[in-house]
Amino acid sequence: TFIVFEGGDGTGKSTQARILEDRIRQRLDREVVLTREPGGTDIGEKIRSLVLETGNGVIDARTEALLYAASRAAHAHQLIAPALERGAVVVCDRYIDSSAAYQGGGRGLGEDAVTNLSLWATENLVPDLTVFLSVDGAHARNRVASRGALDRLETEPDSFHARVRESFQGLARSPGSKKTVIDGSGSVDEVADRVWDSVLPTLMA
Ligand code: C5P
Repeated sequence: TFIVFEGGDGTGKSTQARILEDRIRQRLDREVVLTREPGGTDIGEKIRSLVLETGNGVIDARTEALLYAASRAAHAHQLIAPALERGAVVVCDRYIDSSAAYQGGGRGLGEDAVTNLSLWATENLVPDLTVFLSVDGAHARNRVASRGALDRLETEPDSFHARVRESFQGLARSPGSKKTVIDGSGSVDEVADRVWDSVLPTLMA
């Protein structure tokens, strides 16, 4: 079973992915592989550093999109597909819809073009369920600011993040692969319970 968390910066994806991993292991006694993008493999982590450490405007949008797609190809082939084949649950923090939102929406390359690039890169390896975490913009900004370290993207203007948020909202509503939108406000435990309730049917399927 392949489960993906999506949402803008500061929506709580990494925290919720970790909690879901624990719960699946404890409550269902299944093997779980927790992973993230960009990253997840040696080459993927190198690409992550390359992209995230490159200064604003130094890397052009298409190069950025191709680097994320390359990282995802390695991730899908080396880690995700083998784990799914042996029956593990894969919980991934960001996947194709992040590229659609950041490079497609935020950078203006177009969601469909960027999605198609990733579908090619992964040979159409798509999640069984995508969980979109939704919190309002001010709330998310506060969470990001309180973390301290701002990476390259987190210092992009508000207009960039507004475009990304708008893309995520559209993607969450679009037909196609299975998805659910979870209210990311409230305590970590409250959100974790909402996530569990919406993911359980997919895990049991
Ligand atoms: O989720 P995480 O903070 O690890 O993501 C690292 C950064 O990469 C974030 O600032 C996110 O906005 C950015 N990103 C991106 N395009 C993607 C995936 C992540 O711009 N396809």
